[in-house]
Amino acid sequence: MKGQTGYTCPYCHITLKTESGAKKHACKKKKMADELGSDVVRTAYKLWAFWYLYNRFGKHTDRTTDDFRRSPYFNLFCELAASIQNVWMFDKNDYVVWLCQKRIPATKWKDKTLIGRYKREIHVRGKGLERAALTLEAVMLWCMEKEVPLKDFFAKFPPNEFLLWLESGKMSPWFLLTAPNRDVLIDRLTDPQINKMLDHVNMDYWEDRLSKSSDVDEINRMYTEFGL
Ligand SMILES: [Zn+2]
Repeated sequence: MKGQTGYTCPYCHITLKTESGAKKHACKKKKMADELGSDVVRTAYKLWAFWYLYNRFGKHTDRTTDDFRRSPYFNLFCELAASIQNVWMFDKNDYVVWLCQKRIPATKWKDKTLIGRYKREIHVRGKGLERAALTLEAVMLWCMEKEVPLKDFFAKFPPNEFLLWLESGKMSPWFLLTAPNRDVLIDRLTDPQINKMLDHVNMDYWEDRLSKSSDVDEINRMYTEFGL
């Protein structure tokens, strides 16, 4: 950033007199941003802004990228974004919610074993109706893009994609185990694919949970409403 008196670092706000001096300047934040690249920093900013809102910090909710660069959490969120950039995760904000609910210290957020723990907990989190509705939304979007009638979803959806959706949390067991015609999809899976599905969906747990939940009636009403 060139000002009247020289170049100001957008991270630490130090002013450097010459352009070559500005290029050589490397504070901790600038170094991290340069190393990770703008895509990761943009993801980090979005996660940070969401975290800020979620925790209702301060009165200002319209956090800018400048605010982010100034934040003492800049490096932590950049490390977090870098750590999850190649992890198949349906909703990255949900990971932030989980971190807050579990009161995990910020220095551990990027931890791979922690991310693994979250991924194993994805499906059991949240309320049934909400989770089924999120999956139905994704299903309707997929059908729209592929020009497949909603009723044919289970007959047309590719099994490999189904497993990816399951792994990322996009396909919730709340949807998978309650939707009409779901057997049409399950019948199209090979044995190894069924085993993979069962790795993500513990049937004993789910049968018990669904039998005790009042959400299932609501979920069925939603299917009728949308014509699934
Ligand atoms: Zn700097």
